[in-house]
Amino acid sequence: MIDPPSDIKARQSEGFLQLAWDEGSWSVNLPYKWLRGECPCAACKDEWTGARILDPASVPDDIKVADMELVGSYALKIGWSDGHGSGLFTWENLRKLSEERRSSTASSPE
Ligand SMILES: [Zn+2]
Repeated sequence: MIDPPSDIKARQSEGFLQLAWDEGSWSVNLPYKWLRGECPCAACKDEWTGARILDPASVPDDIKVADMELVGSYALKIGWSDGHGSGLFTWENLRKLSEERRSSTASSPE
């Protein structure tokens, strides 16, 4: 088990989820559209191969987080404005996505 993010903020007007890790020593912005495309549920990703089923191009550009809910102490459940809400983002997964995003933004500034 890894520690949960020390802070989670949904930046609705900017369109990203802001996560702080390791007692706030670093933080990362996960754009909603990108994060929605990383939804780990069985309808969006093949459980066995990990291959993406959801076409990221089908995610609306203006997608928003409709609601967020902590699931036990291990995951965040995100309900999206497109009506999809079955994806559980575990802390492990969010950590992995955050590290991916951090290294990709470091090499190619947006
Ligand atoms: Zn999904």
